[in-house]
Parts: sequence; C-alpha cells; structure tokens
Amino acid sequence: MMSGGQGGGPSSGTASANMHRANEISVFGEAMDYFNEAAANLALDPNIKRILTHPSRQVIISIPFQRDNGELEVYTGYRVQYSFARGPAKGGIRYHPDVTLDEVTALAFWMTWKCAVVDLPFGGGKGGVTCDPAKLSRSELERLTRRYAADIIEVIGPDKDVPAPDVGTNPQVMAWIMDTVSMHNRAHTPGVVTGKPLNVGGSRGRVEATGRGVMIVVEAALAKMGKALAGRRVVVQGFGNVGSISAKLLRERGAVIVGISDQYGGLYDPRGIDVDAAIAHVNNPRNVRHSLEGFAGERLTNAELLELPCDILIPAAIENQLTEANASKIKAHLIAEGANGPTTPAADGMFSQAGVTVIPDILANAGGVTVSYFEWAQDRMGYYWREPEVNARLEQVMRENFDAVWELAQERKVTLRTAAYMLAIRRVVDSLMTRGIYA
Ligand code: GLU
Repeated sequence: MMSGGQGGGPSSGTASANMHRANEISVFGEAMDYFNEAAANLALDPNIKRILTHPSRQVIISIPFQRDNGELEVYTGYRVQYSFARGPAKGGIRYHPDVTLDEVTALAFWMTWKCAVVDLPFGGGKGGVTCDPAKLSRSELERLTRRYAADIIEVIGPDKDVPAPDVGTNPQVMAWIMDTVSMHNRAHTPGVVTGKPLNVGGSRGRVEATGRGVMIVVEAALAKMGKALAGRRVVVQGFGNVGSISAKLLRERGAVIVGISDQYGGLYDPRGIDVDAAIAHVNNPRNVRHSLEGFAGERLTNAELLELPCDILIPAAIENQLTEANASKIKAHLIAEGANGPTTPAADGMFSQAGVTVIPDILANAGGVTVSYFEWAQDRMGYYWREPEVNARLEQVMRENFDAVWELAQERKVTLRTAAYMLAIRRVVDSLMTRGIYA
C-alpha cells in the first residue's frame, strides 16, 4: 500500500494520526516540537510550514517471510520519504521489534534536517521492518531483506531514495539490498544504498563515520568552551556502531571512558574502561548475544548509567532516554546525541535551563550520513577514495557546520538544537523556493 502523504501528517497541529498504539507518545509529534520552536524563531511562512510538517510519501508493505522451518509469517515494513526538496531521500533502515509508522516518520523527518544541517544534496527518508533481528538466522535475515528490498524497489534508487544501515541492520544487509536491486534492474546499481561492505562499493571510513563525527563535534564544542578533551570523563549509552566507535575514538584522544552500556545493562569504572578490550569482548564469536556481560567493571542498569558522575554524556542507543523523569539527575555538562531523538522536549528544556549544552542529534550524529554521501558520490564515479581523504573531508564538513550552528546559537540566543533546526530549515526552504512549489 502506498499513500502519498495522507494519513500521517500533523495537518491539525499534532502527529497523533501516525500513532500505532494507544497511550503512547508519538515520536513524530514530539519531534515536531523542535521544528516548531525553530520555525517560530525564523517566522516561517505558514504555507511553507504546512508543507514541511507533512511527509512526502509513506509506504507500508506486508512482507511474506519464510522461516527456516518452512513456516510462513507476514512482517510489516515501511519506507517513509519525508522530503525531496534538496535531492533524493536519504536515511537508514531499522530492524527492531518496536518499529512503527510513527517512529519511521519521525526518523525520516530528522534525516531531512540532518542532511540539510551538514549541507548534503539529499532530502530525508527512513525505512524499517518490525522484527527482532537477534531471533533470525542469517538465511532468514537475508530472505527478509531481499523481499523487503524487492517490495520497495520502485521507490528507491540512486536518484530517488538511498537507504543505509540503522539500528539492527549492517553492511551485509546493505549488500543484500544492493544485490537484489541490481538483479531486478539487470544492472549493477551500487549507488542505491550506502554503508555497504568495501568489496561491493562501500566507502572507506563509513563504518567509523558516525562515531568519528561525534568525536569531532565533542572536541569542537569543548574548544568553544575553552576546554580540552584530555582527562574528561565520558559516559556512553549504547555499544553498537555509534556508541562503541565514539567511545574508542574519544579515548584515543585522551578522554576517560567511565561508563558504557548495551541493551542488557551498563558498566562503570571510574579509572577508565579499556574500550578496545570491550569491543573485542562483544565481537567474540563465543559471546552469542554480543553483550558486555562478563566484561570488567561495576554492573549497573541503563537508567543508573545515565546519572553517573561525568563531564560528557553520549546517548547512542535509541529514542526517549533523557526525559522529564531523569533530566535533573544528569551530572554531565555536555551531552552529544549519538542516537536519534534520545532527549524529549521536556528534558531538553530542563537542560537548557540548567546550562547543560546539548549537541543535537541532527548535527552530532551526522557523520554517518556525510560519509554515506561520499560513498554515493564514489559509487557514481566508480572511483574510490583513500581513508585519509574520507576522514579529512568528514572533519571539514562537521567542523564548518558545527561552527555555523554555534554562531547562529550565540547570535540568536537560542540552544544549539534550535540553531541547528533553524539553519537546516532555512536551507530546505531556500531549495524549495528556488525549485518553486508544484501545487
Ligand atoms: N542511520 C543513520 C542515521 O540515522 C545513517 C543514515 C545514512 O547514512 O543514510 O543518520
């Protein structure tokens, strides 16, 4: 089923039409609060605002899926293309049991502003399948992925919409999508998806890119405050691609990683955690859940982890981790959002009141999509760059746009989040106005 924007948009000011389960906060609705704040500061034209608060296209598919034992199940998949104003839609694919249309729409909405805040020639999109990838065998994951890719084949492509990894997906899943699309197209199509393994058109530096971007903006923010990274105590929530690499790179630059966690719980060691050893621990093939359990350090819950004494907190797991309930107990003075949407608007207001600096998700974790852009460009050229070139260009993009956001925040006396949205919205509106509105 395909719907051209109806059914999802907050046309009457809320996004509740997108909610799947009763009594649950709409992620898209909450995300809209940030947009509204920035739109008010920009005195955005209400006609333009109406366009920007609706997803361009939402695709919902039922995916027939055969288990290894022969049983057939039907899973639900989504692809939301929020905006095409600045170029093809761009954004990851999430495999997680909690995936809903509402969540995917919020994630596609954030991708729109994320791509614009780092000035990439992309719109915003996101996909998802409601499933638990940890409970699927490798061949089940491959079948599910190929059928999902085949079902969205008309709407994706290098000039239409370019997926990438997100929570629960990885370079191998991207390789299967690339292969499925290439087979159906009867043409090698590496630029249909980014975050691929290197041997099928991936970019050097893509796996580390999101964590590297987090490290770059943390260093840049500290520099603005006249502080150095060396010796700062850092807590990182989430030990997937983003959390583990952020922790590793920050430690290499002299920070002390005092807390880390995954979905099963956290670890605290005030003397500093050996992040490389922790990564080796979760990657050990005998560690079937790939969890931090059994690694050295004091065990604690994720909720306790967030409240640990530290200078810098990096939520790099999922949405809604910093809320009204725990915001006043957070000790960090600097928060860099490695995850998408980890802070609720209520908590964000409390941080700003308390003088806690928050580097917002759309800027802090934009390193991943920036190197996705480099990958897409390399795939289209058929010419692949060396890793130092990728990293140098990433650093330049992150620093330039961090500075632009920082300056706008100072000038307008708003938070970094509001400034990031203002810059992003301005860029999207400029492209929209130059193209003209085909209404
Ligand atoms: N899923 C990542 C994000 O949320 C990467 C998206 C991409 O590279 O397209 O930014």
